[in-house]
Amino acid sequence: MTTKKIEVVIPPREPHFVGDGFRVHNFIPSAYRLDMQRMSPFIMLDYNSKFYFPPTDTPRGVGVHPHRGFETVTIAYKGKVAHHDSSGGGGIIGEGDVQWMTAASGVLHKEYHEENFSKQGGDFQMVQLWVNLPAKDKMSKPKYQAIENKNINRFILENKGGEIEVIAGEHKGINGAASTFTPVNMLNAKLNKGAKTDFSFPENHNSALLVIEGSIRVNEVEQVPTDHFVLFENDGESFTIEALENTVFLVLSGEPIQEPIAAQGPFVMNTKAEIIQAINDFNMGKFGFLED
Ligand code: MN
Repeated sequence: MTTKKIEVVIPPREPHFVGDGFRVHNFIPSAYRLDMQRMSPFIMLDYNSKFYFPPTDTPRGVGVHPHRGFETVTIAYKGKVAHHDSSGGGGIIGEGDVQWMTAASGVLHKEYHEENFSKQGGDFQMVQLWVNLPAKDKMSKPKYQAIENKNINRFILENKGGEIEVIAGEHKGINGAASTFTPVNMLNAKLNKGAKTDFSFPENHNSALLVIEGSIRVNEVEQVPTDHFVLFENDGESFTIEALENTVFLVLSGEPIQEPIAAQGPFVMNTKAEIIQAINDFNMGKFGFLED
């Protein structure tokens, strides 16, 4: 198998707040050349690096807002996130859990810190991804997958090297917990210091990783610190990782959706006319109802 080489290692950008609860570094679509096509089907990645939120009686977060045309995937690393949407989906995710919301034809939702976490305060760390849908599925019915950590299958490394949680897709024969509309691999790797492993994806897949904790060495040459994003070229199949300390990193790979993208705010469609339709449908209340 040929080596998937690194195209670039991207440091985190200056953080900004989404609502008052998410202090994020945006990687997709604003860093380097990571526009909505470069990492398709991953069209947005906001990363809340580890950040302490002091106690409050009013949970911080983002109020009711719409989405259409894609999926939102939230992975909690520290702290707890509560979610409610207008199609009845909702729940609380804690450390290691994943919520996979398919907005598709349209939902309203709100995203907040969980109540008790808010009262106590604490370190908060999470990733939110937007995964695009192909044109044929953009107007399908919304759905919600609550994926608890204990239900995520994992590949166990030899010699207590750690484990790879398969959130979606496949890794070394282990199948992912989430169902996806197009080929997507989403892996959460937890390696102990000194452990070495490898990952293989089809050459044409867009592939990347984000270091959440610790630091790693990629392909035996490139040292990558915490909070940095590694974008791979599309011309090889496998890369190797060595954990330089106890480490956590998120690995993403997916088959590009070869369709035009028209995006505005919380709507991601194929044409400008579909965006106008989404805005009209939202204004006419066609996304349902959700209490503030
Ligand atoms: Mn949202």
